[in-house]
Amino acid sequence: MGPGEELPVERGACGGASELELLKLRAAERIDEAAGRLGALSQAIWSQPELAYEEQHAHGVLTRFFQCEPPAASWVVQPHYHLATAFRAEWETPGVHVSQNPLHLGFLCEYDALPSIGHACGHNLIAEVGAAAALGLKGALEGFHGPPPPVKVIVLGTPAEEDGGGKIDLIEAGAFKNLDVVFMAHPSQENAAYLPDVAEHDVTVKYHGKASHAAAYPWEGVNAVDAAVLAYNNLSVLRQQMKPTWRAHGIIKNGGVKPNIIPCYSELIYYFRAPSMKELTVLTEKAEDCFRAAALATGCTTGDVRFIQRSSSVSNSNGDSQTRYVKCPKSKRLSIYPLFIYNYGYLNIYKLNT
Ligand SMILES: [Zn+2]
Repeated sequence: MGPGEELPVERGACGGASELELLKLRAAERIDEAAGRLGALSQAIWSQPELAYEEQHAHGVLTRFFQCEPPAASWVVQPHYHLATAFRAEWETPGVHVSQNPLHLGFLCEYDALPSIGHACGHNLIAEVGAAAALGLKGALEGFHGPPPPVKVIVLGTPAEEDGGGKIDLIEAGAFKNLDVVFMAHPSQENAAYLPDVAEHDVTVKYHGKASHAAAYPWEGVNAVDAAVLAYNNLSVLRQQMKPTWRAHGIIKNGGVKPNIIPCYSELIYYFRAPSMKELTVLTEKAEDCFRAAALATGCTTGDVRFIQRSSSVSNSNGDSQTRYVKCPKSKRLSIYPLFIYNYGYLNIYKLNT
């Protein structure tokens, strides 16, 4: 008996278990049936890491996965959905008319990696668990006792989380329109219902100085790398006064060309995180002072220090689903509830603004 052909769940099959419990069981069974294919999907993405917006291999693996998922053509797949490496796969309970206003449930797959170290935080697993949850929900709805509720299951492949902002591009393109709920799980060292540091701003600071010969005429130069080093050190000093839940981490790019040229240009990239937007605003104001002080001390100029919002803690997951996840027996958490963990703040901001 293949997937999609199983008998519907019937009352009494598990000795009086509630309909909801039977549906959970059905979802878990469907995921177990697909475990081999899901594992292969994850391994294929893991073994060939790709950078943000360049995830052609992962895009191909995931779209083929849904196109080949039995029974044939059960998922409507749109490759290259608004972005070259994004996709959308949809399934809905049969016989649903648009007038029934089906519930639109979204599951997100991420699959980009970092330079040099590949899938450092396991976005291949986000892809696997997003696909698994969608299959599980489909399986549960197919096994519904009686006419199933009108539900549309939507899987969105969202590239470029590590750099840029694929989800922001997709939001702006309308990809999240009409989605009632969006679920995603991120792997972690511990089993957690939410991530504490979800408000994040990124910033790139560019220092412009003046090149000169470092041995012959150093007094003619304005050293842009000095500004970057001072800013780095200013932030390191600030760290002593930061709350334990705040994070500031960055790198120096463009450290000059040769030792005998006073560098005329340098660049810093920093990420700042805090548990709330209110605290993040305090942190980024202090950081901006650090950046500007370095420019003032060295005589460099810097353009606008613009902080780019990557995510926000407007709503760090849905409280009710967090409670359900925590209450769920540990043995079931990974098979039933992982997708209730983590909603992206900017998706919530989007919802609030529309
Ligand atoms: Zn990650």
